[in-house]
Amino acid sequence: MLKQLAFIALLLIVAAAVSPAQQTPSSPQVTVIRAGRLVDVDVGRVLTSQMLLLRGGKIEAMGENLPVPAGATVIDLSKMTVLPGLLDCHTHLADLGDAEPLLVLQKSAVESAYAVIPNARVTLLAGFTTVRDVGVYRAFNDVALRDAIAKGIVIGPRMFVAGAYITISEGAGAMTGLAPDIQLPWDLHFGEANSPWEVRQRVRQLAHRGADHIKILSTGAVLTHGSNPKSIEFTPEELQAAVDEARNFGLRVEAHAHAAEGIKNAIRAGVASIEHATLIDDEGIALAKEHGTYLDMDIYDEECIQDTAKKSKPPADFLEHDRDLGDIQRRNFTKAVRAGVKMSFGTDAGVCPHGINARQFAYMVKYGMTPMQAIQSATSNAADLLGKSNLLGSLQPGRYADIIAVSGNPLEDIRLLENVKFVMKEGRIYKQEP
Ligand SMILES: [Zn+2]
Repeated sequence: MLKQLAFIALLLIVAAAVSPAQQTPSSPQVTVIRAGRLVDVDVGRVLTSQMLLLRGGKIEAMGENLPVPAGATVIDLSKMTVLPGLLDCHTHLADLGDAEPLLVLQKSAVESAYAVIPNARVTLLAGFTTVRDVGVYRAFNDVALRDAIAKGIVIGPRMFVAGAYITISEGAGAMTGLAPDIQLPWDLHFGEANSPWEVRQRVRQLAHRGADHIKILSTGAVLTHGSNPKSIEFTPEELQAAVDEARNFGLRVEAHAHAAEGIKNAIRAGVASIEHATLIDDEGIALAKEHGTYLDMDIYDEECIQDTAKKSKPPADFLEHDRDLGDIQRRNFTKAVRAGVKMSFGTDAGVCPHGINARQFAYMVKYGMTPMQAIQSATSNAADLLGKSNLLGSLQPGRYADIIAVSGNPLEDIRLLENVKFVMKEGRIYKQEP
């Protein structure tokens, strides 16, 4: 019953949050938040008794004794720890989490688009106010979801999207496993490219159709039929073409890469981040440090893959790929943290259910980060990776009022982030629990 009441209260809050009455442009809403503790991720310390002054979706001031303007709404979080809204740099919100072509083909693009709406909602309510969504099988479903959220039609985090995967034919980002005489609809193989010039063509098309960044698959994958995480897929020339062409449009590139050579090829080509980085070797770690490349290592989702394996029977070739890779990736994560490589927070949400993204924090701490480093990976570092440090990832004036709170001190118990009590995105409250 209590749960039901809380849910109704939440609905009312959400309804109030999206009510058009608050959107009068002439008088931006002024809100003051009283924070018991506040995590200042830019300098890596926890401040006490802080106040945040918010105006029109942005943070205007932060300090100990700010004057409260007349008519301001005051939110009392004095018993909580306030943090910047979290960013997950590796999600798949706009996909149904299934690479099985025969299942994907049972739904139209429109059905898929409606079916992913809850993914966005649970992610935001878990405290993730921004995501970098790194690929969809149905090309441009992510662009549509991003825009629907931005317009307030769908509740979810601010999204930065890839539009599609750029992949070799039959590669890690392709719908594989079909008979050769089956022709897929255009949007299920949009990102296939097999030469530097085809890669450039895809980048141009994606940029023109609304992609915020480019996702390229440098090596084989775990969860794709006929693909092998240890194999190289794109050549250095093709990776270079992706980075150069993306740069012409002001876009950054992230490379999916498990195999050591594929990781190094992508770093040398100048990608902004390596996704997974599973089999990175010492040379790769040194290269990432030298080039300032982020490693976006999804070290929790192995738990979900093994869990699913116990409950159902995933295809044998997927599990074969996955065996041992989870452990190696976690050991390499520790090495990279110790070496001082830039690290961002990316979970590959969609492999695990959406909304449990924060479970990865405890693993990052277990495998070598301080709690503050883990929080920075999902705030200031993530915003830097997106090239949006001026707007996201910290509670400094001028940033979006993307604010979350937890009860207790997450620097002492990082798992508190798995139970976020308060969520605000751009000044609007989406969740507020005692
Ligand atoms: Zn992924």
